[in-house]
Amino acid sequence: MKYEPVIGLEVHAELATASKMFCACPVVDTTQSSPNISVCPVCAGLPGSLPVLNCMAVEYGVRAALALECEVQETSIFSRKNYFYPDLPKGYQISQYEDPLAINGRLIVDTSQGEHLIRIRRVHLEEDTGKLTHVHGINEDYSLVDLNRAGVPLLEIVSEPDMHSLEEVRAYATTLRAILRELGISSGDMEKGAIRFEANVSIRLQGSNTLGTRVEIKNLNSFRAMERGIAYELERQAALLDRGDRVVQETLGWNETEQATYSQRSKEEAHDYRYFPEPDLPPLVVNVDWIERIRNEMPELPRAKTIRLQTHYGLQKTEAVKLSHECGTSAYFETCAQALKTASPKTAAAWITGELFAWLNQTGTSINRIKVNPKNLAELLDLVHQGTINQNTGKAVLVEMLETGNSAEKIVRSRGLAQIFDESSIASIVSKVIAAHPEEMASFLAGKETLSNWFFGQAMKSAGGKANPSVLKTELEKQLEQIKIAK
Ligand code: ADP
Ligand code: ZN
Ligand code: MG
Repeated sequence: MKYEPVIGLEVHAELATASKMFCACPVVDTTQSSPNISVCPVCAGLPGSLPVLNCMAVEYGVRAALALECEVQETSIFSRKNYFYPDLPKGYQISQYEDPLAINGRLIVDTSQGEHLIRIRRVHLEEDTGKLTHVHGINEDYSLVDLNRAGVPLLEIVSEPDMHSLEEVRAYATTLRAILRELGISSGDMEKGAIRFEANVSIRLQGSNTLGTRVEIKNLNSFRAMERGIAYELERQAALLDRGDRVVQETLGWNETEQATYSQRSKEEAHDYRYFPEPDLPPLVVNVDWIERIRNEMPELPRAKTIRLQTHYGLQKTEAVKLSHECGTSAYFETCAQALKTASPKTAAAWITGELFAWLNQTGTSINRIKVNPKNLAELLDLVHQGTINQNTGKAVLVEMLETGNSAEKIVRSRGLAQIFDESSIASIVSKVIAAHPEEMASFLAGKETLSNWFFGQAMKSAGGKANPSVLKTELEKQLEQIKIAK
């Protein structure tokens, strides 16, 4: 690797407040609602209307800033970012520019390479824009404007260019989203655009300390798109430099169908926006008492949770990270762990991050919506631990539980899944299997020892997967030994 990737992320999170940032219009799910049902003179930008700041948006912003260990500025300023485009009818976006809500934070993330500290440059509040739909038909060519989203509070979180691999980017993005969800301030739902990532990407020669020219990639609508987009840029830039060309600073879009970036516009400069302080809003003052009250109400954050799960339950770090980075998962795990009678919490962690996560991924379900409550899962794990059913049967039972909501015991009882421990019935299964396969037995006796595994598989199959593996193994070994001696 000749070049080192240098990546900084700008993250926009829609805040889950009840009303918009500067008016009383309710925040509605823009993917579900009819257009323009939540619009008033303020967010429609009618002359003479005045913005009034939503206190909850500030509170949410401070929560995020504290979670990211930022300095919350006692006074911050709202500014007008001027541009002309129908997604904001005012002709400007109210944002924060020179004096943002908070600065100088940090987030520690875990990758397979260890811990990484990503510095946070700033956290600021701004308003979202409306949504445009462009219609290009044979005899039609127009755009539709939906202002439901115009004026919804957004939190922008800007990192320093401290990420040097795709894995660090993924860890940063998922940890940040986990924090926002844990704080209850954003749904973090990428499909609905509630969290949006823009990646700034450059490369430099390994060992160099100077930053290369960067591009900014927009339209990254999923974690996958973000990784692909960045990977594409890293390669494109390396090829340019190898050829002796230069990277041009510009804003790129990610084209999902082409799996390529395309040039959107040359990089705009701050002065293009003619920022100036918003005359209709006073400076925002967040006093120490307010900050301290919010600090005292902070929930346990993913990193602290990871450490607690490790020390309290003896979990591996990777498992603890997985459990603490999806909202609701650690609570699920802890309730399950406490309900276990014989199985260990480690087993619970392994099943949740293994079998259960796999099923959630496959079916696109959230852990908060499943039919199996943590106590049901504990019951299943105890049945496996006590040997009533074996691991594989247990996995099948879990899927059935998830699909039907029935309890483990009910499924095991009604389907007769309990393991067979009885030595004499297992012995008779083994002898039938041996009798049915004289050729394999001949090869085994001729020295092909590995066939004993094959016999094991056959016997387990004929027992419908229910034979206790260790009893079966003992029986099989016993009978094979006897046959060898008899020969
Ligand atoms: P803007 O994009 O609004 O001009 P900044 O210049 O402050 O804002 O940079 C925004 C983002 O770009 C930050 O996340 C920062 O870490 C990142 N960034 C800045 N320089 C580079 C670089 N050379 N390579 C990669 N990322 C960079
Ligand atoms: Zn409004
Ligand atoms: Mg930018």
